Amino acid sequence: MTKRIFRSICLVALLVFFSSITLIMGVLYDYFSKVQQNQLKLQTTLAAQGVAHEGMDYFDRLDSGSCRITWISPDGMILYDSLSDTAAMKNHLEREEIRMALETGYGESDRYSATLMERSFYSARRLDDGSILRLSVTHSTIFILLLGMSQPVFLVFAIAVILSIILATRLSSRIVRPLNELDLDHPMTNDSYEELAPLLRRIGSQQNELKIQKEKLQQKQEELNAVIFNMKEGILLLNPAGEILSVNPAARELLDIRPCPQAAAFHSHSPALQEILERALQGKPSEKTLELRDRHYQVTASPVCSPQSVFGAALLLFDVTEKEHAEQMRREFTANVSHELKTPLHAISGYAELLKNNLVSSEDICPFAERIYTEAQRMTKLIEDIISLSHLDERDLNGSLNMDFEAADLYEIAKAAADSLASEAEAADTSISLTGESAVVYGIPQLLFGIVRNLCDNAVKYNHKGGSVSINVSSCPDAVTLIVRDTGIGIPAEHQEHIFERFYRVDKSHSKELGGTGLGLSIVKHAVSIHHASLHLKSFPGKGTEISVLFPKNRQRNTV
Ligand code: ADP
Repeated sequence: MTKRIFRSICLVALLVFFSSITLIMGVLYDYFSKVQQNQLKLQTTLAAQGVAHEGMDYFDRLDSGSCRITWISPDGMILYDSLSDTAAMKNHLEREEIRMALETGYGESDRYSATLMERSFYSARRLDDGSILRLSVTHSTIFILLLGMSQPVFLVFAIAVILSIILATRLSSRIVRPLNELDLDHPMTNDSYEELAPLLRRIGSQQNELKIQKEKLQQKQEELNAVIFNMKEGILLLNPAGEILSVNPAARELLDIRPCPQAAAFHSHSPALQEILERALQGKPSEKTLELRDRHYQVTASPVCSPQSVFGAALLLFDVTEKEHAEQMRREFTANVSHELKTPLHAISGYAELLKNNLVSSEDICPFAERIYTEAQRMTKLIEDIISLSHLDERDLNGSLNMDFEAADLYEIAKAAADSLASEAEAADTSISLTGESAVVYGIPQLLFGIVRNLCDNAVKYNHKGGSVSINVSSCPDAVTLIVRDTGIGIPAEHQEHIFERFYRVDKSHSKELGGTGLGLSIVKHAVSIHHASLHLKSFPGKGTEISVLFPKNRQRNTV
């Protein structure tokens, strides 16, 4: 910009210079021409008087200098000429100044010679005898004049150029300085050219908009980063060369990615993972369940692409260990249920077939009917337990049960459970006693009853003849405790950690004989966890078993 202003100023200065020179020269040339014409007119008048007096003698003593004097007869013939031979000169009647002088007594004209680059002024006066005296002077044209003055003109030109350069340099830098000093970070604080105010206002408002947009973008980026970095699912983004663009801590740990100063393509230790990543980078999405660090992950590799090219790949790792485990449990449970139901059903259908075919003697009918009844009872119990368990499982899936929590007296519940088992206890020759105090638990009464009843049922079933079962309910500031103790067969140490699993029995045939389903303690475990309580087992083979349930008081619960 400075250069442009500099050039413009120089150009203008030179233009002004040349125009001024031309104008001044023109005006001066015109002025001096007029002065010269007036003088020529005066000289012509004086010379005419001299010639009128003295005739041809006048020219003898005359020194005409730069003037040319011509005397012309009334018929146009040249009588005298101070420069040329009169005989060789043409008739002058046609000359403009001569014609005017013949008509009016005085005539003048000027003629321009392109070849000689000269201009001649003619002044003619008619004498009394009708002859004409003409004086003429010649002077150079304005161009020749300028050529003649070339030295001083060049000097002035040089001075003008130098002055123009100095002034242009100063002026251009003075004009540009306020522009260079503009504070564009704070456009509204500038006190510069008035003409720049709208531009500065615009810059200011655009800067504000940009600032707001930048803040919004930053906030969104931070939110996104917070989400990605705190996700327990792993995220990995790769560029087309397979180099890592972004990775969250979960993926970093799972895939054992260490910070690397140089850009290098990511290579997984797992061939299966590497394969699906390479497929994704070729534009093909894939999904696989892989085992990483002893857990199961559903790995989804998707290409990030346009119809023309692949820009990279995104890898998502979801921990599906629990899901897989639940799936496995469900499969096992279904297989176990079918198996458990098949046995009593086979027995019932076998006995029924014998009865139908009259293959049973009349005295055996009663024991057969008794067996059918027992197997049917076992099936009913099994189905009841399965229903209870699936009901509790539903809570795990939906997060809610159709039962409300309420304040319930555990002592009263234990009493009801003990009463409900009175006939079984009597049949097994086992005594049941209840001690303790009234203790309020915030829970689901049906489930609490199920806990006590299942524990007591086992304590009666796996007891010795003449053995005892004692139930105790106590309360302390932190918790309410239920203890069911028996003097039964006890549980061997190696089985103790398994007895709460579904369909697990220490002695399968003994349990079946006693009408056990292998589900009682699973139901207890589930119900205990719904109440955020804890289970504790102490058992000594041959001596007895003690199972206690601890209900913490500080847990406030609503409907589950
Ligand atoms: P079951 O219907 O077979 O009793 P449970 O889930 O209630 O099923 O119990 C699982 C297994 O734990 C039982 O088969 C039994 O072997 C053992 N068991 C449970 N309670 C006791 C106990 N009080 N004394 C001895 N063994 C027990």
